Amino acid sequence: VSYVEVDVPNVLREIMPIIYNEAILHGVTVHYEASGSLPKVIADAELLKQVFLNIGKNGIEAMVDGGHLTVTERVDLEERRVHIDIHDTGPGIPLFVIDKIFDPFFTTKAEGTGLGLSVCQRIIHDMGGSIRVSAKGFGTTFTVSIPFP
Ligand code: ADP
Ligand code: MG
Repeated sequence: VSYVEVDVPNVLREIMPIIYNEAILHGVTVHYEASGSLPKVIADAELLKQVFLNIGKNGIEAMVDGGHLTVTERVDLEERRVHIDIHDTGPGIPLFVIDKIFDPFFTTKAEGTGLGLSVCQRIIHDMGGSIRVSAKGFGTTFTVSIPFP
């Protein structure tokens, strides 16, 4: 793990081809809305890639009948955080499941490990950030928030 100044849009651009390939297999379209300029965060770029890939892949896997995955980024100057929203138009997450999704080994998939989100949360917490989920009705949004100095 090596923490350096990292450009989040750069990290997102680098993983987009992988996300696109995965999305095509599932009949999912992908939109990445780059915000222009975001403050750099202090992070490990490889770990950040892992986080966005995991969350993006979960979204794509949730959309069994196709759909849209939208990634947006924004800065909150008051909180001094960069927020990355990863939204899918899948079925959402039932209330009885949502409390458990960050638990290690919790999965609703036949071949899932249930480790993705627990690892993501650990990585982001170690950077002083947070991951929140909003799944009201249809669709799910994961928001990754990372502080900048
Ligand atoms: P895995 O992908 O191996 O199941 P994760 O930790 O990545 O493990 O996810 C845990 C569980 O959270 C999934 O099995 C699924 O039930 C739920 N989940 C995560 N992301 C989504 C999403 N975008 N839409 C619906 N359910 C989701
Ligand atoms: Mg997963």
